[in-house]
Amino acid sequence: MASPALVPAAAEDPSFAELIAQRPHLSLHALDGLTMEEVPLARIAAAVGTPTWIYSAGALRRRYARLRDALAGAGLDAGIHFAVKANTSLAVLRVLAEAGAGADVVSEGELRIARAAGIPASRIVFSGVGKTGRELRLALDEDIHQINAESAEELAMLSALAASLGRTARVALRVNPDVDARTHAKITTGLSENKFGVAYDEAVALYARMAAMPGIRPVGIAMHIGSQITAGMAAYRAAYARMAELVRELRARGLPVERLDGGGGLGIPYRDEPAPLPEALAGAIRATLGPLGLPVMIEPGRWIAGPAGVLLASVVIEKRGEARRFAICDAGMNDLVRPAMYEAWHGIVPVGAAARAAPLSPADVVGPVCETGDTFARGRALPPLAPGDLLAFLDAGAYGAVMSSTYNARPLAAEVLVDGDRFAVVRERQGFEALLAGQRVPDWLATGPAAEATP
Ligand SMILES: *Cc1c(COP(=O)(O)O)cnc(C)c1O
Repeated sequence: MASPALVPAAAEDPSFAELIAQRPHLSLHALDGLTMEEVPLARIAAAVGTPTWIYSAGALRRRYARLRDALAGAGLDAGIHFAVKANTSLAVLRVLAEAGAGADVVSEGELRIARAAGIPASRIVFSGVGKTGRELRLALDEDIHQINAESAEELAMLSALAASLGRTARVALRVNPDVDARTHAKITTGLSENKFGVAYDEAVALYARMAAMPGIRPVGIAMHIGSQITAGMAAYRAAYARMAELVRELRARGLPVERLDGGGGLGIPYRDEPAPLPEALAGAIRATLGPLGLPVMIEPGRWIAGPAGVLLASVVIEKRGEARRFAICDAGMNDLVRPAMYEAWHGIVPVGAAARAAPLSPADVVGPVCETGDTFARGRALPPLAPGDLLAFLDAGAYGAVMSSTYNARPLAAEVLVDGDRFAVVRERQGFEALLAGQRVPDWLATGPAAEATP
C-alpha cells in the first residue's frame, strides 16, 4: 500500500478529460479510445508498433494560422520562420511550408532539410553561435534571406568569405538584450552571462563596423531571449523595448535598419500553467516595435509544433514495488528526454477506452533505460496497467524526436503524420542494422572472435 507521504500530490494534475479538451486535435471515443483527428491511436500502434511519434497536420496548420492571424490582426507586417530545431520531420516542415512558413535554421543539416521540404531560400534565416565556414558558405551559395551574426569574430569570418566568393550576405546582428525570460536555466538565452548574441552596449559600434565590411549588407537586428516563456509578456516587452531603443540609435547615426527579428520562445501549457496567447505576443510587438514601422519576423518552434504531437508508447510491465507502482514503458529517455533534462511535465493519457473507466492510483511512469533519470512522471494518477496497454505522452511535437538518441542501443522510433482520416509513416522505425552501420573494427583487431578473455 503506497503511503501518502511517499507519493507526491497527483490530485492537482488536470484530469484526462481536461487535458484532451485543451487539445482540439485529440478526442476520446467510447469504443476507439484516444483519437487524433479521425484516426484512433490504437490503429496506428497496431500498424506501426510503438514507440511512435505522431503529429497532427491539422493542428500544425491551425496553430500556424492562429499566429499569422494574430500578427495580421495587430496590423503588423510580420513573417513567421518556424524554428526547425523543434521538429525536423520533412513531412511536418512540408505542412508548414504549404501554409506559408519560412524557417529558422541553426545548422547545415537543418538548412538542407528545410530546403528539401520545399521552404524557399528566400524564407530561410540562419541563427546559431557556432556556424562553421562550411555552413556560412552554403548559406551564401543558397542565397538565403538572412544570416543572424552572433559575434564580431563571426562577422569578420563571414565578411572575408562573402568577399572572396564575390557575394553579399544579408546580415542581422543578434543582440543580447540582457533580459531574464524567467524560464528554465537550460533554455534561457537572453542574459548577458549566456553565450548568445553581442552585448547590448556594444551593438551600435559593431553595427556601424559591420556596415563598412565588404561582402556584408546589414539588414537589421535580431534577438531571442529563451524558450518556453510562460511568465507573461513582461520579458518580451522589456527586450523589444530595448531593441526599439537600439533601432532609434542606429537610425540617428544614419545606419540602415530594414527589419527586426524578434526570435521565438512563446511557451505552451504542458500541465495547466497560464501561457501567453499569440494575440498577447502580437500586442507586445505592436506596442514596442510597431512605431518603428519596420517589417518584423518571429521564430516560434515549440508553440507551433509542441501540442501537435504525441509520443505513443506501450506498457511493457507494471511492477509493484514496496512503496510505489511503476509503469515501465517501451519508450525511454532516449526517445523523450525533456523530463530527464528539464524536469518537464508531460500529460500521460491511457489510450484504451476501458482503461479510463478504471479507478486511478498513483504510478511512476518510467522507461527501460538504465538511469534513474529515465522517469517520465512520479505519482501520476493512472488506472491499473497491463502489458501492451497504450499510453500517449502529450505535447511531444517539439523538442521530442529531434532530441532522441540511440542510448542503450535502442533504435530511433518511427514517426507518423495524421491528416484527417489518413495517416502515413513519415519516418521508418530504425532497424538494428542501423546501429552497426558505419562501425568498423580496426584491422589489427579483426582476427576473429577472441579465443580467451584474460581477466
Ligand atoms: C530555439 C530558438 C528558437 C525557437 O524557440 P521556441 O521556444 O521553440 O519558440 C527561435 N530562435 C532561435 C535563435 C532559437 O535558438
